[in-house]
Amino acid sequence: MPSSYDLIVIGGGSGGSACARRAAEYGAKVCLIDKGPTRDASGARTGAGFGGTCVNVGCVPKKIMYNAASQRESMVGHVALARGLGFTVPESAGVVDWAMLKSRRDAYVSKLNKSYEGNWTKAGIDIVVGEAQFVSEKTVRVKSSDGGAERTLSAPKILVAVGGTPAMPPLPGIDLAISSDGFFDLASQPRKVAVVGAGYIAVEMAGILHGLGSEVHLFFRGETLLRRGFDPYIVEALMSELKAHGPQLHPESTPMRLVRAADGSTTLVIQPKAGQPVEHTGFDCVLMAIGRAPSTASLGLDRVGHPPPYLPPPFPPNLPPPPPPSVPPPHPPPPPPPP
Ligand code: NAP
Repeated sequence: MPSSYDLIVIGGGSGGSACARRAAEYGAKVCLIDKGPTRDASGARTGAGFGGTCVNVGCVPKKIMYNAASQRESMVGHVALARGLGFTVPESAGVVDWAMLKSRRDAYVSKLNKSYEGNWTKAGIDIVVGEAQFVSEKTVRVKSSDGGAERTLSAPKILVAVGGTPAMPPLPGIDLAISSDGFFDLASQPRKVAVVGAGYIAVEMAGILHGLGSEVHLFFRGETLLRRGFDPYIVEALMSELKAHGPQLHPESTPMRLVRAADGSTTLVIQPKAGQPVEHTGFDCVLMAIGRAPSTASLGLDRVGHPPPYLPPPFPPNLPPPPPPSVPPPHPPPPPPPP
């Protein structure tokens, strides 16, 4: 394998993959570096795998879980109706075999990993599995993910497309919580779940787990979910649907700490808008979904003119309320009738 290329792409997610393939199509000699599916000593994911977040711990497996939840929701309604009409429907109807769902989902993701790799190979892209770090502007050193020899590669253009990882708030007991990455590792269905956050991921994860039959409590700091940058009409419709169908909503709730209870479950201590902190007990899963941070820390960007900090500022426990929406009403009043 050569050590010098026209283009080096760091990161084999949606962005890096598309760029590498298009450049190769135009005749560039391309090397794509991806960590592959790596984990740290605690088992937490440090590299998503070929295809990146979307394929491994984002859109694709999320949609499979969403579809499963949606199937169960429609089935449960029919089961209730059928029972009402005198049919005998076993209690197990609507109980998901989580292990089977997970294994089929993982198998599908694995197929996609292979197809990404196949497409890169077909395009003539050299694939290096490891972690890249800049040595200089046009050179990177790659530490192999499987313990193999380090390599030094260079190119006049190096594209950084490393994506991000879930951010975790610096709370006491945070080790008791999982992120959306951890959600995709759950080997069995959690019985009672706390989801903390107010963005897409919190809403999706809470909705999926609720749809699959877990008891779900969604804690968020504002009066509503999606309060930053979303159309107020979407927020209004979402809040009214969630209030009607679940999960259980806990607005104006700022997480303070997590504690392991004597029975092994997790207690989440919440500071409400007013009054004393409140303990919410008995969770077998606490999922934090409070935003994502770029995975740039180990790239050595300071060696190529991007001094730290290149991470977003830490998440403050309480952000100021967002500005009032500036979106016009959806249906402006009709013009006055012609005279
Ligand atoms: P996000 O959209 O950044 O929302 C996270 C929210 O969590 C914040 O807006 C904040 O809302 C709340 N939060 C922040 N710090 C907190 C803390 N310390 N304690 C409690 N709450 C806190 O993050 P995300 O939902 O994790 O999603 C990450 C990214 O993935 C986003 O860019 C999202 O758009 C993207 N995504 C896209 C899709 C899609 O396109 N379908 C799906 C999933 C994710 P408050 O200030 O209101 O508390």
